[in-house]
Amino acid sequence: MLADVIDVMQRGDSSGNNMIVRIRLSSGRQIYGFATENLYGGDWDIGPTWNYLVTGKNPFLVDSGRRGKGLQLGKMIEFAGFNGQDIAAVIVSHGHEDHDGGLFELTNLINTPVVAHEVYSHLVRPNAKSAPSKERADFPASCWCCPMPETFYKKNCLEYHIERQELNIVAIGDFREELGAGIEVTHAPGHCPDSVVIVVDGEAILVGDTILPEITPHPTLEGSFTVMKPALPEKFDEAQQLFGLRAYIRSLKKLSAMTESTDRLLVLPSHRLYYQDTWNQLDLHGRIDELVQHHVDRCHEILRILNSGPKTPKEIARDYFDPDLLKGYGINLAINEIKSHCELMEISQDVVVLEGDKMLSTGGENFRSLIIDL
Ligand SMILES: [Zn+2]
Ligand SMILES: [Zn+2]
Repeated sequence: MLADVIDVMQRGDSSGNNMIVRIRLSSGRQIYGFATENLYGGDWDIGPTWNYLVTGKNPFLVDSGRRGKGLQLGKMIEFAGFNGQDIAAVIVSHGHEDHDGGLFELTNLINTPVVAHEVYSHLVRPNAKSAPSKERADFPASCWCCPMPETFYKKNCLEYHIERQELNIVAIGDFREELGAGIEVTHAPGHCPDSVVIVVDGEAILVGDTILPEITPHPTLEGSFTVMKPALPEKFDEAQQLFGLRAYIRSLKKLSAMTESTDRLLVLPSHRLYYQDTWNQLDLHGRIDELVQHHVDRCHEILRILNSGPKTPKEIARDYFDPDLLKGYGINLAINEIKSHCELMEISQDVVVLEGDKMLSTGGENFRSLIIDL
């Protein structure tokens, strides 16, 4: 049981905010978990960000919490008995603000390199020459396709983007040896093009937002690739290598195959390890099967909605989701979610796009075999 291997060093609230835990692996290594608040306001609560410290010859941290949480995380690390010089690097699970927003503050405090998938450094730097519009010229490629409205990014993102450009970033491939034996970092794009997953001693797996309890992570859009391509390394010349539902499901399958022979991996997600006073223990393979099935069901439901005639992603989202989920920024995320499934079904020829962005069902359900073959 999860509760048996976890020592709570500092209690948090019922969502786990401000909790500090220690996990002992049978290899002798320890992993600390630090839960930093992650509130966007309103009802939208995915729970705190769980940042992890993996001990060993070169201890490393995974993620830094949201912007404004770097100092607090530094204090939590001290509380756990470490000081800044002990930390060899901060690895970024993926370039979303609730995971890398605290990096600037934290690395000013503990002065360590930021280690991330090679795509990350390309996405955090501005690239005015290739930006899709004048308005986004000062913004890094990572937000050229952001579904959030201007009011959101002006309030939440401007300084974050400026700070990220200052980071000293090392590609994971150049840091692998420093991490030492027992640490395996794997690229798992889909939720974010630079997502990575870390296996520790074949006993624990830090899955970032690629696999979460209670929440199905949002996939990106393959369509973003056309816009972001000029900012990416040349070897990424196909959308599905980094973006979209196909990339996401392929990553899930890769993680499943990679850990096939390991029956009991301790799964450490970036959100909801603890929530509503309960530990969320995940069975990795079971959860992966559930997530894939969820997307299969969602494709089927979208086609069912299209039975009554062609609809835009926004119209499908209105039919599909509970109105509560569509409040505020929810509608933007819901539309993207529908689009990512429609993209896959366009490839499987179950939908065609008509003028005005309307999706028309062709009457097939080829998406099932496409997903099986990924
Ligand atoms: Zn997250
Ligand atoms: Zn994320």
